[in-house]
Amino acid sequence: MKKEFYRILGFAAVFFIVTLFLLNIPKDIYVINVHTGYYHHPGCKYAHKINPRNMKWERDMAKIEKQGFTPCSNCFPGKEKGKGNRE
Ligand SMILES: [Zn+2]
Repeated sequence: MKKEFYRILGFAAVFFIVTLFLLNIPKDIYVINVHTGYYHHPGCKYAHKINPRNMKWERDMAKIEKQGFTPCSNCFPGKEKGKGNRE
């Protein structure tokens, strides 16, 4: 009986943390592959292939560019607001 309670509690905790994590990710965050030097949208299929050891998250595009990372040619990070530049 008590075991079941802790199991549910565990699920609730995980769910809570995941929700917090998801809510905390702003839409303008980018995933950098420090190994290849490319950066991606979190939703890019290549972003999912990055080895966690080479993965770096960054919100500040200026910072990314300053470090000389290359935008991915698949997801075009930084040009997400419609593919034509509106700015
Ligand atoms: Zn990409």
